[in-house]
Amino acid sequence: MEYNKIKTVGVLTSGGDAPGMNAAIRAVTRAAIGQGIRVKAIYRGYKGLIDGEVVEFSTQDVSGIIQRGGTILKSARCKEFQTPEGRQQAYETILKEQIDALIVIGGDGTFTGGRLFAQEYDVPVIGLPGTIDNDLWGTDATIGYDTSLSTITECIDKLRDTATSHERVFLVEVMGRNAGFLTLNAAIAGGCEAAIIPERASVKEQLEDAIGNGRRKSKNSSIVLVQEHAVEGGAKTVAEMIEKEHPEYSTRVTVLGHLQRGGSPTAYDRILASRMGAAAIQALQDGQRNVMIGIQNDDIVLVPLSKAIHQKKDIKEDSWQALQTLSI
Ligand code: ATP
Repeated sequence: MEYNKIKTVGVLTSGGDAPGMNAAIRAVTRAAIGQGIRVKAIYRGYKGLIDGEVVEFSTQDVSGIIQRGGTILKSARCKEFQTPEGRQQAYETILKEQIDALIVIGGDGTFTGGRLFAQEYDVPVIGLPGTIDNDLWGTDATIGYDTSLSTITECIDKLRDTATSHERVFLVEVMGRNAGFLTLNAAIAGGCEAAIIPERASVKEQLEDAIGNGRRKSKNSSIVLVQEHAVEGGAKTVAEMIEKEHPEYSTRVTVLGHLQRGGSPTAYDRILASRMGAAAIQALQDGQRNVMIGIQNDDIVLVPLSKAIHQKKDIKEDSWQALQTLSI
């Protein structure tokens, strides 16, 4: 395939939905059409690619969606795409629809599948990081992270009002797959007493630090954020641990769940998605393939998909220290 001859691009959203995905779809569509490239929108992620759920988009098809959460293309988790037979079927759709390159918007699973597909069938793939978890290496931010962080912070503010009315430890379970970015930064933004995240020490140690060392003496309530996979059973397990070790404290558990994915994207996420979507089309025009569009120090960068997936992004040590310093 000659990459400067891309005439038609396919776009899909896959994995967990994230606010700002619509802004990314809009940007990809308009940037492509502006450069004379046709856009085939693929519904339900890799499932739609396998099933041939493809519709050609015009610029009007993406009108009025920049402010909407979720994804108009729907998303799905698709086991079939993990099999060679599934990917073969997906390739048949690519041939039938005359798609020359794919833009996949999602997280590490989406990129893993996209990269494999690109290798097997010589279809250029560009990844846009669309996940609330912010867990992809090579980009300071992912589309949806900023919105989710704001949503979680708003929830914490509301909980704080009721928490200060009683002597309780509130344990709030936060999403993030294997990463603690949302939990740590929401804890800082919400002025929380502690964050329990997979990247740091044992849960017991983190808890003792937060509650057992007397910090609470000066406070009559605490809000502790618990990353969903920091401990098996999440916030509920942590509540049980506290009630066992410190029976003087009564606990309350709040699982924010899918609330964290919803809502209108923040201005930051809309701008990020718009820049990244336009950059994806430019990257294809420049002959790039199998890269993720990232942002570093406010500059758009291209990161090989293999690095984005396989390298581990760590939380910022100064953020972790700031939480410890400020939660006394
Ligand atoms: P999030 O981080 O928001 O959960 P994600 O992109 O990591 O998003 P996954 O469910 O892990 O979400 O992956 C999305 C889809 O990518 C899967 O349903 C599957 O179709 C495809 N996929 C994931 N891993 C692989 C793999 N190893 N091989 C082929 N396809 C894969």
